[in-house]
Amino acid sequence: MCSIDTFKIDLKALPQDETVMQYKLNDDYFKAIDASDVQRGELCVDLSIRRTDDFFELNFHTEGVVHIPCDLCLDDMEQPISSDNRIVAKFGEDYSEDDDLVTVAEEEGILDVTWLIYQFIVLNIPIKHVHAPGKCNPAMIKMLEEHSVARSDEEEEEDTIDPRWAALLKLKDKK
Ligand SMILES: [Zn+2]
Repeated sequence: MCSIDTFKIDLKALPQDETVMQYKLNDDYFKAIDASDVQRGELCVDLSIRRTDDFFELNFHTEGVVHIPCDLCLDDMEQPISSDNRIVAKFGEDYSEDDDLVTVAEEEGILDVTWLIYQFIVLNIPIKHVHAPGKCNPAMIKMLEEHSVARSDEEEEEDTIDPRWAALLKLKDKK
């Protein structure tokens, strides 16, 4: 695993035309950035940077899996990630982000892609993510089912049987 420092790209030092970089992300990356949504994963990022004078076009291709809790059973599941993202960087006075345009403080000339890559990954996770059918934690699913059955029984009793009737029925049963 390359250190997190390599995510800081010295734009001024880049040659004109194309530079290609590759990052391997693993659990250490997620630990290092202390991210909340994703804590584990193995991904590969191919980055090509095309420099034309002081404009930089960056194309990211991110592919791999992240381990995130399943919406249904809460056990970790593998979520495949495949994302293509393009941003343009230029120099300015201060750092700023505006959609896919990033302005880098010219004095430093450093573009840190650590969080950009993290954002690409998070945006690629579907809102609803669950295990493949039958792959959920069976104990958890059983508990969920029992809970929902118990709840619907309660509701049914409340809906259909008046408590006074219930009392009468009990008396009747005793006879
Ligand atoms: Zn599940």
